[in-house]
Amino acid sequence: MVDFNKFGLHADVLRAIGDLEFTKPTPIQSDAIPHAMAGRDLLACASTGSGKTAAFLLPIIQRLRQQPGRGTRALIITPTRELAAQIVEHAHALARHTRVRAAAVYGGVGMKPQQEALRRGVDIIVATPGRLLDHMQYDYTNFQKLEVLVLDEADRMLDMGFLPDIRRVLKSLPVGASRQTLFFSATMPAPIVELSRELLNQPARINIERKSAPVQGLAQALYPVPQKLKPELLIELLKRDEIGNVIVFTRTKHRANRLYEKIERSGIAAARIHGNRSQAQRTEALAGFKKGRYRVLVATDIVARGIDIEALDHVVNFDVPHTPDDYIHRVGRTARAEMTGDAFTFVAPEEEPLVRDIERATQKKIERRVVKGFDYDRKHDEALEIPLADRIAAIRARKREERGRSEARARGEVAPRRRQPHRERQGRSARP
Ligand code: AMP
Repeated sequence: MVDFNKFGLHADVLRAIGDLEFTKPTPIQSDAIPHAMAGRDLLACASTGSGKTAAFLLPIIQRLRQQPGRGTRALIITPTRELAAQIVEHAHALARHTRVRAAAVYGGVGMKPQQEALRRGVDIIVATPGRLLDHMQYDYTNFQKLEVLVLDEADRMLDMGFLPDIRRVLKSLPVGASRQTLFFSATMPAPIVELSRELLNQPARINIERKSAPVQGLAQALYPVPQKLKPELLIELLKRDEIGNVIVFTRTKHRANRLYEKIERSGIAAARIHGNRSQAQRTEALAGFKKGRYRVLVATDIVARGIDIEALDHVVNFDVPHTPDDYIHRVGRTARAEMTGDAFTFVAPEEEPLVRDIERATQKKIERRVVKGFDYDRKHDEALEIPLADRIAAIRARKREERGRSEARARGEVAPRRRQPHRERQGRSARP
């Protein structure tokens, strides 16, 4: 604990750090906390797993602990419900020996408790942008006392199309010349740089020159495999215990669903989270996975970004991430704060160019593995996804039929309605 002492945090805060058994600050904490405690704005390049949450929460709790209950003084905006829930959980843990309170505001659950928290002016509000805007229309939402604003995972908010919402939120906040803004982003695409310039006042820049490199202590490997055999390969690795508990990322919701079904059919306990699952279902899946009830969590990457799971053995990229930065961000999830884990990526022949981009960005060749005894030439039972050309053909056929029907109606005839096959209906919503 010696190391945390150097920040000048109050004993009650240090006690909570001790309860969490954090022995020394992570690099982002060492770099960010002194500036944040001095009241400076911050521009920090940090991804999930770096310990960034405590890096912004500790200075906030330290600041608010002397006079809690005077209205909402810190607002943390984050892209997903899971992240919001985790940040609040972290805040509760770090503030447990103080009277500082935190509450989450996100969609998919009732407005009422959130209204109450906003009306009461809970010290720290952690919110997703959309739901926050919903509440901001009403006068029970009052940010007049706001002292600290945190934008968390700004690049992910951009990816998810939240930038206009963020700008709307920022516009409706009271103009506070003395407000401190802490800005966190794993990557710095141009619109994020622009937003940070607008928002920040002579910020301390942290880890900004970060080279594109995954977290250390991480075993990475590529598994070349025909696209259609990917599920079988995953199940084989699970059955051989070469993979322990694992998050598997798929490109689309549809692939997540189909893969989940296949894993379950093979007798391995699995859960899934993606944009079409309700908040209750996502919470249950995550809690079950954390408790070990499910060995596999299948997730689309957008929803799962930032999920905080201790002691994760593996991440499997069932599909190769589309950009090197996404790859780096994702594999970082296993190697959070001094833990190691493996990141396996399944590569179909058509995904090889993406792998080359990743290897170029990380300046490292990733090991390729062939699974001995796995029949790479075996016949697969069914494809996970209907090929695009087939989907387009099916849509065209349906449109032709609809046209035929409406012409028949115009002629006063009634054409029989064809039932749409199940797979065709599913195939059309292949978004993450
Ligand atoms: P974050 O990057 O904020 O999502 O944090 C990643 C994980 O690291 C969380 O599970 C934290 O509880 C943990 N963590 C944060 N700071 C430390 C620390 N100083 N020592 C050990 N673990 C930490």
